Amino acid sequence: MTTGTKATTERRVNLYGMGLEELTAFVQELGEPAYRARQLMEWLYQHHVTDFHAMTNLPKALRHTLAERATAEAPTVAHVQVSTDGTRKYLLRVFDGDTVEAVLIPEGERLTACLSSQIGCGIGCRFCATALMGLTRNLAPGEIVGQLAAIQQESGRRVTNVVMMGMGEPLANYTSVMRALRLMNHPLGFGLGARRLTISTVGIVPRIRDLARENLQVGLAVSLHAADDETRDLLVPINRRYPIAELMAAVRDYIEQTHRRVTFEYVLLRGVNDSPADARKLAKLLEGLLCHVNLIPFNPVPETGFERPEAAVIKRFQEELTSRGIPATVRRSRGSDIDAACGQLRRRQPV
Ligand code: SF4
Repeated sequence: MTTGTKATTERRVNLYGMGLEELTAFVQELGEPAYRARQLMEWLYQHHVTDFHAMTNLPKALRHTLAERATAEAPTVAHVQVSTDGTRKYLLRVFDGDTVEAVLIPEGERLTACLSSQIGCGIGCRFCATALMGLTRNLAPGEIVGQLAAIQQESGRRVTNVVMMGMGEPLANYTSVMRALRLMNHPLGFGLGARRLTISTVGIVPRIRDLARENLQVGLAVSLHAADDETRDLLVPINRRYPIAELMAAVRDYIEQTHRRVTFEYVLLRGVNDSPADARKLAKLLEGLLCHVNLIPFNPVPETGFERPEAAVIKRFQEELTSRGIPATVRRSRGSDIDAACGQLRRRQPV
């Protein structure tokens, strides 16, 4: 009896995370018309209904077959921290019981969800809490879009923008991240405009080139953090594989092909990359590019040994850039009363 139940469960396929093509193939295999896949899409991603029996516009017999042959497992909320500024940080349980982080950031009309692409991360940036965990595995498309669904449901609000900037390096899980983004963008999925979706990368050059050819107008944010190879080798070890010159060539091509402005993320670390000379080097590197610089004063992670620069140093760095025609803003610290740095909540909350 136990064996029989296990065999049935093992045969069931998880539909959550499938796009229209895969769902169409699945329903057609069951002998159903293709439009049933569209109905399934709406239930799963627009109404967040994962119980087939509650999908009331499907015939009863089909609901029964679906429950027998398939599942619709989505991530669930394991823990929420709410900041006084309205930022909500989530620990979400994914398919194998492991956990990832996601953050919801309200800013005026805009409600941005910052989602994870991997459990842990294998890139090893020296200032990052997630790097301390190492990489466990890539997330499946359903585990990525399911973060969005779970936080929309928990907060009762509709997300307007998504940044793939949580745990993991999105371009190291390229296929799943692209499938997830297409689901977020699809009118029967989450219906978010491609321009409201952003991928953040440390600079995996071949994948940036792939992304430029995707014909999906998503935004690109490049975590630069230094304008010379010596400093960047130290902070972002993948720089040894894809040095700054190669990275910038790929970014230039990306801008040429997509006509989209690229964002450069630059975490400011006291005494490491925060001097006026560093700012001038950065301005020179970005000269003439359609871009914007996001300066991120370091959110302390005690184990890393790095510190946040003084406010005056941050201001001076920004001025060095803007006076040379490089648009630069200092990212406001959000959720500073909670475990705001990516990876901190999961490391402290072994649920
Ligand atoms: S900063 Fe991003 S890419 Fe670097 S180790 Fe952390 S999660 Fe990975």
